[in-house]
Amino acid sequence: MVVVGAGAAGLAAARTLHNAGARVTIVEARPRIGGRVWTERSCGPYPIELGAELIHGEHTSTVALAHMAGLTLAEVDRYNGLRWGTPARLVQDLPATDPAWQTITAARDVWHKLATQYADDAADRSLAAELIQRGVDPARLPIADVVLAQTCCAELETLSCVDLAREIRGDRAGPREFRLREGYDTLLNWLARDLDIRLGSPVHAIIHQADEVQIKTPASILRARHCIITVPVAVLAAGMIRFDPPLSASKQAAITAFRTLSATKHFFWFDEPLWDAGFAYAAHGGLFARWWTPAHPDLSAPLICCYVTASRAEILDRLPDDTVRTLGLAELSRILGRDDVARRCTGFRRYRWAHDPFARGGYAHLLPGMAWARPALAAAEGSLHFAGEATAFDSNPQTVHGAIDSGRRAAQECLR
Ligand SMILES: Cc1cc2nc3c(=O)[nH]c(=O)nc-3n(C[C@H](O)[C@H](O)[C@H](O)COP(=O)(O)OP(=O)(O)OC[C@H]3O[C@@H](n4cnc5c(N)ncnc54)[C@H](O)[C@@H]3O)c2cc1C
Repeated sequence: MVVVGAGAAGLAAARTLHNAGARVTIVEARPRIGGRVWTERSCGPYPIELGAELIHGEHTSTVALAHMAGLTLAEVDRYNGLRWGTPARLVQDLPATDPAWQTITAARDVWHKLATQYADDAADRSLAAELIQRGVDPARLPIADVVLAQTCCAELETLSCVDLAREIRGDRAGPREFRLREGYDTLLNWLARDLDIRLGSPVHAIIHQADEVQIKTPASILRARHCIITVPVAVLAAGMIRFDPPLSASKQAAITAFRTLSATKHFFWFDEPLWDAGFAYAAHGGLFARWWTPAHPDLSAPLICCYVTASRAEILDRLPDDTVRTLGLAELSRILGRDDVARRCTGFRRYRWAHDPFARGGYAHLLPGMAWARPALAAAEGSLHFAGEATAFDSNPQTVHGAIDSGRRAAQECLR
């Protein structure tokens, strides 16, 4: 068996096949494993998560694996700990007459009710349209955009309610959130142990017949009975891999139904923490919309991360480092309500996933009317099997545990 891609989905697929006694090789384009999980340890005194950072839910494959690997979970309460505005104030302490309190409360309520409002065959609409229909003032949609759509690497106008409802209905993950104290990469390194992984091997062609698949890289041709493809859907959409014969019309339609928008993490280091010990998560309506303090090696690290997606990231990605650093510090200064922020900053770094050729953006979502595409992307075609976060129709797409679940599902298809 051959698995294309050594991210969470590919490693989970290969681990499942390996544990079942199958011979499996992973072919990975990058010089490292992990894909959109990337813990960077060479940038200063504290490691940073350039990609995935949180484990979303206590009943997830990631939590189970962390326990097996003996890793330490650090819980974070972003839901109750959310602060809003400039300066940022705890949302749960805001008066019920405050526009931010009203909008965030209403947006969360609409989100949870999607599951019962949108059956799989319901007429679809955008999350923006749904919020307005449920009484949210259109002038306040920018607040809902920050708390709901930024997380999904999308705009309220481009999110399909039917697709979100399917995910919420089947959600078994639970509401708690964690970080891995040792770094997210330790989880994937644990999954990868003893596996045959060929790094630096970008696949450019896959020739497939009923009983054999040829996987071509610049340096080799691998032959396999089954091939599991876990590359991001944006990589498939960009035509970076040629399929011969071409994929079915329904698979090609599914691939083009997804949108993968920009996602960028900005890190700012200081001489000491400029925030109180309870500071976990702050948001506001600016360009640098969401800020949080990373949790490893300890909560008192003088390091803060600003994670932006979609059009905000697209705008910032076009600006040079110095400009982004200055603009970011100005917004942080208003969020923290202090004027020494720029002076105390000792370092800055960002990572733009839209500029990464093997990711081509953050993570994928589906436009209104396109919810059919997720199971269609996941469906096997002869000896080809498909995994990766975008295919996680029966788990949580856009997450590490969703990717792991999809890899295991594809491996089981091969073993049948
Ligand atoms: C900035 C950011 C923050 C995130 N935060 C979180 C979070 O807090 N919590 C969470 O659960 N999830 C988060 N996610 C999402 C999570 O990272 C992904 O859902 C998950 O890691 C995807 O795993 P995957 O295996 O599907 O894809 P990937 O990790 O992208 O793996 C695919 C692999 O395929 C390789 N590849 C691509 N093209 C080729 C080719 N031609 N030949 C060979 N190999 C190829 C890639 O290099 C990559 O290694 C975040 C993502 C980003 C970008």
